[in-house]
Amino acid sequence: MILPDIIQLLPDNIANQIAAGEVIQRPASAVKELLENAVDAGANEIRLIVNDAGKALIQVIDNGKGMSETDARMAFERHATSKIKSIDDLFTIKTMGFRGEALASIAAVAQVELKSKREEDETGVFIEIENSQVIKQEPIAAPTGTSIAMKNLFFNVPARRNFLKSNAAELRHIVDEFIRVAMSFPEIFFSFTSNGQQVFYLEKGSMKQRLVQILGNNYVSKLVPVQEQTDYLNIYGFVGKPETAKKTRGDQYFFVNNRFIKSAYLNHAVMNAFDEMIAKDSFPMYCLFIDLDPSQLDINVHPTKQEIKFEDEKIVYAFVQSAVKHALAQFSITPTLDFELDASIQSLDAVTKPFTEEKKSSASSSSLYNTFTKKHQSHFIESKSELKHWKSFYDKPQESNIETQIDAPALLNTNIKLQTDNLVQLHNSFILIQTEKGYYLVHQQNAHERILYERFAMAVDGKPIATQQSLFPATMELATADAVLLNELIPDMHQLGYQLEPFGSNTFVIQGTPADISGGGSQGAVSEKNAIEKMLEQYKHFSSDLKFSKREKLLRSLALQQSVKAGTALSAKEMKVLVEDLFNCQIPNSTANGKPTYLEFKKDELDKLFGR
Ligand code: ADP
Ligand code: MG
Repeated sequence: MILPDIIQLLPDNIANQIAAGEVIQRPASAVKELLENAVDAGANEIRLIVNDAGKALIQVIDNGKGMSETDARMAFERHATSKIKSIDDLFTIKTMGFRGEALASIAAVAQVELKSKREEDETGVFIEIENSQVIKQEPIAAPTGTSIAMKNLFFNVPARRNFLKSNAAELRHIVDEFIRVAMSFPEIFFSFTSNGQQVFYLEKGSMKQRLVQILGNNYVSKLVPVQEQTDYLNIYGFVGKPETAKKTRGDQYFFVNNRFIKSAYLNHAVMNAFDEMIAKDSFPMYCLFIDLDPSQLDINVHPTKQEIKFEDEKIVYAFVQSAVKHALAQFSITPTLDFELDASIQSLDAVTKPFTEEKKSSASSSSLYNTFTKKHQSHFIESKSELKHWKSFYDKPQESNIETQIDAPALLNTNIKLQTDNLVQLHNSFILIQTEKGYYLVHQQNAHERILYERFAMAVDGKPIATQQSLFPATMELATADAVLLNELIPDMHQLGYQLEPFGSNTFVIQGTPADISGGGSQGAVSEKNAIEKMLEQYKHFSSDLKFSKREKLLRSLALQQSVKAGTALSAKEMKVLVEDLFNCQIPNSTANGKPTYLEFKKDELDKLFGR
């Protein structure tokens, strides 16, 4: 028997849908592509309209150069681009896009309506596309520029549509993308409307004005300009004054040739520059633009990837660090700045001299350069070994905790007796509990975090925490992205005892706070305002963690935020309550984030240590 051949070419529409999956993963990716196309078209006014977090409609209207009738049709073909013609163009690319994939992808997974007109044309063109096919085309009257509306994203790929998150979550991704584009182009007017409501209205202005418009008024007098120019690269932008540093990574942006990137490496450079000026566990705000010759970049990475490869990463690191140090020093943010180190980096050839090939090789072989990079490397090794140490410190006791984990809920009533009356607090951070077999060392903050986490989990599960009405409701104004986020969390916040209502654009009123959480009701709405802001910071910190639901993130953030901190003196009664609450928890031995709440020390092992 002869078996038939089995390989077939995929039909175009399926091939397109598969390819589209790479470029358009969610509404926010389409928003990014459309905004970037508008920027590339030279527009100075760009409007974004979304309905249903982009699931129903994403529309971008620009006043850029528009398209001819033929170009408008061509634009939706795969690998159709006006931005590169030969492979060499790749190395001088100045536009945001160049792969010619975005519009083709969008046309494969949404119903698209395009209107476009060039300055020089009498009439514009209207095109309607579905399943990558043009189903309607006609001349229309239109202003110069382009409007692309994409409706019912993934209408023909239900599996993908079902994979989308809640509207609130998708909207937040859109806000993130919008902000990244709007930040890079302060000379362009941007507006953003969601379900008919204005989310952003960003007038043309300076970089500083744009940042304040986006990040909030509290940055007005808190931005330090960064500006260094050399032949090799330019850095400009702003860093927040040290006092604006937050407890969690929040407003940190790098752009390379106006493209938003994520770089742990360059982030490290900025953190190093801030060095002693901010607390070890806090994060400075920065928004830094690095412009360099595109040939020094590997731009040919995946379109949705935010990583970037530099030809010489170490030099960029040195620039970033020295530029930020210099900026902070110039504005004499702190008298304790390490001028010696600063001066040595400043005098790096790479920083002071025009950049040539020759200079480049001499710079990288100079001893200063080596000291610098070595220092940097040792830092990495240092932090790695710290991590190892940290792990081994916890690994062992956790093993022995397996036993206590099983026993724990029964601890108080049965076999192991805890002495909860004469507890001792050490360093205002640990509580020592004698047991029959030895002693426990409880970490008060971790323990409290566990207790609160379980209490909050019960609250959102249907046993709401009572609210204590505030005598003096406080209002709270947030940056737009934070307001979008908080709106998303309000229903759960109600369950948790927060009576919190939206009150006009980006403002909320706190009318009541949880009654039975210490630090809640008693302190009233004003300090809760602070607490909610911090909770949002914390929440954003968890946000990149996709494996958690928004509710889980909220519970963890609140528990972390509201726990009694290490360093707080506790009364005998407070210690007793804390310890008893801990061992009444479902899982008393670690926080929701996996940190141990207590360590067990066994008497017989202690005896052995003493040679007994
Ligand atoms: P790329 O941006 O990588 O070239 P796209 O699929 O995003 O690929 O767009 C294809 C082409 O369509 C672009 O190269 C450009 O010529 C044209 N185009 C897309 N959007 C616009 C717009 N808003 N205004 C004018 N031309 C546009
Ligand atoms: Mg594009």
